[in-house]
Amino acid sequence: MSLRCRRCQATIGLDDLTYIAYHAHTMGANRVEVHFECPRCGYRGERMLSQQAWDELMLNYLENDERTADEWLTTQQMGPITAEEVRAMRRMLRSGNLLQSLHEWERSQRGETTE
Ligand SMILES: [Zn+2]
Repeated sequence: MSLRCRRCQATIGLDDLTYIAYHAHTMGANRVEVHFECPRCGYRGERMLSQQAWDELMLNYLENDERTADEWLTTQQMGPITAEEVRAMRRMLRSGNLLQSLHEWERSQRGETTE
């Protein structure tokens, strides 16, 4: 799973994501809306991803460069993320259970505190 620019086919990286929103639905059919700006041509695009596609995308990013993901988490503008939350994310990443970690983080982004 990777994002590519519709105009020039450049690969869209974590740093190129400009907006992420979770759309929770019943029956577990969650969607993740991502907006991005192409690093090569500046084209602004958006995609609606399934939960599975989002997981695969994040896994792809994190496997390729965990440190970039860390830095991105500290600077991204999706919502109020505290330094403590970033540290917690880092700890979870090191725990090896990456997808579970992402789901925990996603829940925090949606403001859910309980299952
Ligand atoms: Zn482009």
